[in-house]
Amino acid sequence: MNRLSIKIKVTLWYVAFMLIIVLLVLTFILSISDNLLRSSSQSQLKSIVEKSLEEIEFDDGALEIDDDLDFFQNGAYLSVYDKNGSLVYGRTPSDFTGNIAFSSGEMQTVGDGDQQWYVYDLLMPIEGYGDIWVRGVTSPTDSEGSIQTMKGLAIIALPFIVILGAVGGYYITKRAFRPISKIIESAETISGGNDLSKRINLGSGKDEIYTLARTFDSMFMRLQQSFESEKQFTADASHELRTPTSVIISQCEYALENAKDLDETKEALSVVLAQSKKMSGLIAQLLTLARTDKGSQILNLELVNISEIAEMVIEEQRFLTEDKHIEIQSQIEPNIILRADQTMLMRLLINLISNAIAYGKNGGHIWVELIREEILIRGIVKDDGIGIAEEKLGKIWDRFFQVDPSRTAGKSEGMGLGLSMCQWICEAHGGEIYVESVFGEGSTFYFKIPFTS
Ligand code: ADP
Repeated sequence: MNRLSIKIKVTLWYVAFMLIIVLLVLTFILSISDNLLRSSSQSQLKSIVEKSLEEIEFDDGALEIDDDLDFFQNGAYLSVYDKNGSLVYGRTPSDFTGNIAFSSGEMQTVGDGDQQWYVYDLLMPIEGYGDIWVRGVTSPTDSEGSIQTMKGLAIIALPFIVILGAVGGYYITKRAFRPISKIIESAETISGGNDLSKRINLGSGKDEIYTLARTFDSMFMRLQQSFESEKQFTADASHELRTPTSVIISQCEYALENAKDLDETKEALSVVLAQSKKMSGLIAQLLTLARTDKGSQILNLELVNISEIAEMVIEEQRFLTEDKHIEIQSQIEPNIILRADQTMLMRLLINLISNAIAYGKNGGHIWVELIREEILIRGIVKDDGIGIAEEKLGKIWDRFFQVDPSRTAGKSEGMGLGLSMCQWICEAHGGEIYVESVFGEGSTFYFKIPFTS
């Protein structure tokens, strides 16, 4: 049974049910109508015989039968016999051969399958004459015959009905299951050839199978996206790590083979140190990002004074502005306290302000603002630097995306990971971050963090 396809199984099941139901209904209908017809022709015969008794009397030494009495009425034959069983009046049907004993008040059935008769006798004492028998004979009505014909027809037609039902049912089931075959086909192609770009594409039907196909399609889409971003991430990460690694190797080789004095060795070592710091920063960021991806980077929530953090970060970052003579102005509402992850909030502000410095113009300005609103904190980091071209605005949140990698020279960890980290931090706190920028005029980053994250 398990080897049969689901289509055959469904067809077999409902053909079996259909057969049982048709048989039950047919048996029920036929037996009810059979009984109804039989009892109606028998009760008619009975009443004819009973009524006829009133028409028979004994007068002047002879039996007298009223003129009203019809010896053939409604398909029933009437006959009167004396107590010895000799016919006195009336007649029986010409082909009635039944030599059957009298039995008063009992409905008797005689004859074979082809020709049947109902016989009903009544014994009546007639004063002065003695007992007489009145016998009524009738044959089952035509309708009863049609019931028999119907039975025969039903028996012949039933196998055809079942075959027709089975074929039609199989066809309908096959049609209904066609989408399933498509789903199986696509799933097999995907798992067999690792082609995650394949979709079932059933269309816009509303039933369960269409919904299932759409669910699969969106699952395939998410799988494809996550596989691709994973691949991209690995490729980008190894690319970013390769540059500092090759610099370290070449500096070490140079120092070992060519360094003539301690100064040259120290110079090589300081390059090695700078590149190692870059790598270490990158590895730390990669680790955090990998944890956010897995969902295992848990926020360490505590009551945090974000105003103090902002002031502290601004002070720290001021050192980096000296080369470019950038002025940082701020308006921080004091003592804004919320439940948040202190390290993450610090990272958010450092990333935004260090970007504003790195991509700010010489002698430019940076504006940092922190405002307490009813249910959230609104932060703004604005600069009048190089700005971001409109077509690049959507991409800056992607990992490893840099509009111009050569511009990050002033940043120690500039690898295109900062803003994607900022986005994760805001979203993990239930907030959001977005940017407005005009190329050549400057950028403004806005973030909102609700008090109840
Ligand atoms: P990066 O390490 O390169 O700074 P980020 O993720 O912090 O990486 O930023 C991604 C890119 O967005 C940057 O390379 C830069 O091109 C652009 N960007 C970010 N902040 C600014 C800003 N304030 N002004 C102009 N461009 C910016």
